[in-house]
Amino acid sequence: MGKKNKNKNKQTQIKTVSGAVSFGMQKSKGQHLLKNPMILSEIINKSGIKSTDTVLEIGPGTGNLTMLLLDAAKKVVAIELDPRMVAQLIKRVGISPYQNKLQLIQGDVLKQKLPFFDLCVANIPYQISSPIVFKLLSHRPLFRAAVLLIQREFAMRLIAKPGTEFYCRLSVNVQLLSKVDHIMKVSKKNFVPPPKVESSVVRIEPIHPLPKINFLEWDGMLRICFSRKNKTLGALFKQKKIFDMIYQNYKKFKENNGNIISNNQDNKESNPIVSSEINENDNNESNIIKGLLNNINDEEKMELDNDDEEKDEEDEKEKEKDNEEKMENDEEKMNNNEENINVPNDEKSQFRIHLINLLKNNNFMQQRAVKMSITNFLELLNLFNNNGIHFN
Ligand code: SAH
Repeated sequence: MGKKNKNKNKQTQIKTVSGAVSFGMQKSKGQHLLKNPMILSEIINKSGIKSTDTVLEIGPGTGNLTMLLLDAAKKVVAIELDPRMVAQLIKRVGISPYQNKLQLIQGDVLKQKLPFFDLCVANIPYQISSPIVFKLLSHRPLFRAAVLLIQREFAMRLIAKPGTEFYCRLSVNVQLLSKVDHIMKVSKKNFVPPPKVESSVVRIEPIHPLPKINFLEWDGMLRICFSRKNKTLGALFKQKKIFDMIYQNYKKFKENNGNIISNNQDNKESNPIVSSEINENDNNESNIIKGLLNNINDEEKMELDNDDEEKDEEDEKEKEKDNEEKMENDEEKMNNNEENINVPNDEKSQFRIHLINLLKNNNFMQQRAVKMSITNFLELLNLFNNNGIHFN
């Protein structure tokens, strides 16, 4: 934290590539200019820009990439936060044959309504990578692809597969909505000033049509599953906070739709009330966008994530013990049902048994988010929703 603040206003005096003006680069704005012409043209080559394309560039800086984009595309729309960069870029483009092709917007990309574009090609400010990706993926009409230069670790998260080190909620959400490929590594020495971290170029192609799910439900469930990504689902759903939350949702849902605990605890048959709700196509797209916007407001805590996880785990351990014991008690009583030992019949205990049985009977009890594929998560959500368990 202290480290971060120290760097906030640190400026590196720099000559821009166009050689004209020099001014301080602000690390707080992620200002690391890509200066290697080979890497710049490699990015252009890998982007597949057509001469009819409108290209969106986020954070053009002094225009190193912009000039090449202008040469390849019909039009470039560039959004830049820093007025000094904007002034520099206007100068640079002004003395080129491209000035009519460039639309320059000064402002924060996260606060702008994005214009129409076919492709997004950009060396983006790393500190807002996650909100930028979700903003792009919720943009309509859909674009062909986004070719982004990003922090290597963030790239690893975007492309991570189940069971690998970087697999996380971000991987699942982004891969649900797009196909992500790693294009090339870019070493820090290609930037001025060099960032502390290594970088990578990725290509993100939105998937169309989107899977038919209620994204708010999806997002709510994933947040739970990844709250401790190495914990079994059985242990997670026994946690008091989580259990109480879904029990409240269940009661709310029941008030609106009648009793939903049934013996039909499998994945195959769906509850008509629920399925009509989640299969409504129009609803789906706007739900996805709403859910994505949820993600935009999340802070990207790349380096902190693991530490937090460990600390929280310690804190939770004690608290959870009690609740898990209670759950196990209920389960035990339920298993001994035939002997007619005091079966708890209050609604909450019944629901607890319903939930545990659902996970057990469908082999989810011992699964862990870190190893589950998107298909597994889709199956789990379907199972939950068809059995009255909701997450928003
Ligand atoms: N594309 C340039 C500069 C990359 S540095 C190059 O490769 O050389 C990232 C750029 O994003 C900087 O110019 C910075 O001012 C800009 N930036 C930072 N935050 C931004 C935001 N919220 N909206 C738009 N631009 C932003």
